Amino acid sequence: LLLAYEPAKRLARLQVSLERAVVNARMIYEILDIQPQQADRPGAKPLMMGKGEVVLEGVNFSYQQGDPILRDVSFTAHAGRTTALVGPSGAGKSTVISLVPRFYDPEAGRILIDGQDIADVTKQSLRAAIAYVSQQPYLFEGSIRDNIRYGRPDATDTEIEEAARRANAHDFILTQPRGYDTPVGENGITLSGGQRQRLSIARALVRNAPILLLDEATSALDTESEALVQRALETAMQGRTVIVIAHRLSTIARADKIVVMQAGRVAEEGRHDDLVTKTDGIYARFHNMQMLGIDGFDESDALPQPVSS
Ligand code: ATP
Repeated sequence: LLLAYEPAKRLARLQVSLERAVVNARMIYEILDIQPQQADRPGAKPLMMGKGEVVLEGVNFSYQQGDPILRDVSFTAHAGRTTALVGPSGAGKSTVISLVPRFYDPEAGRILIDGQDIADVTKQSLRAAIAYVSQQPYLFEGSIRDNIRYGRPDATDTEIEEAARRANAHDFILTQPRGYDTPVGENGITLSGGQRQRLSIARALVRNAPILLLDEATSALDTESEALVQRALETAMQGRTVIVIAHRLSTIARADKIVVMQAGRVAEEGRHDDLVTKTDGIYARFHNMQMLGIDGFDESDALPQPVSS
């Protein structure tokens, strides 16, 4: 019995450290299907997916005790709509995103999906409802096909190809030495940033999850790649509840809702047209700076200081 137990224990340990390592590296998409670290609550039920509304209610969170990172964060990401999180570096945008698949749990407050507290549902069913596209997509050792299949292990080759087409990846895949069987990852071919992003979008499409978490790239791609990635993202966002850490004015301006975060709080919330006209608003200031070609949210010194609690 002990012999059988040891490898299982080692595997569990590996999963725990992998989950931590990957979360820290902001590659959470790829591990959505790894066995969750914490056990489900007794009596946890599968998530009953409805339209995919995500609600944060008074969420407090800290990585280390006594160092609050999120303070009383509340907002609703409406089903089938795009909610853009914006704000200076360190405001807590990525932290908000990592609470939705429950890589961490809030200290106070709750997160609801279609009215169900995510703390009360099985993690497996929760994560099956979520896809994630990161800034720096991770490619595993294996073929291009395998890498797309990480989105949903039981996807057929036809489904993989269909997702690749919709992600504007099919054409470049066919130009690779072995097409979909071309090895990528450390020992495989090197793909450009834009190609990696399109593979990551294909993964999200094959997953076909109702909720999409998206960390928009800050690094510039060449113009052609940029347009292909942008169009692929628009396809992926269609009809899903999207929470996007947005950096581009075009994404932000088109979002159904903008949540401006500052020092772990929601500072402002609304649509672009409303926020932009707010006298002395944080977003209005950010927008003006972007118009001048300055990344407004990197100029955090220029922003009003947060009220400490
Ligand atoms: P950026 O735009 O730079 O990614 P952000 O708004 O996404 O910033 P977060 O990454 O959520 O902000 O970080 C919020 C705060 O939490 C920062 O002070 C950061 O240093 C801290 N933080 C983030 N991840 C961890 C972690 N794994 N352990 C400890 N502190 C963390």
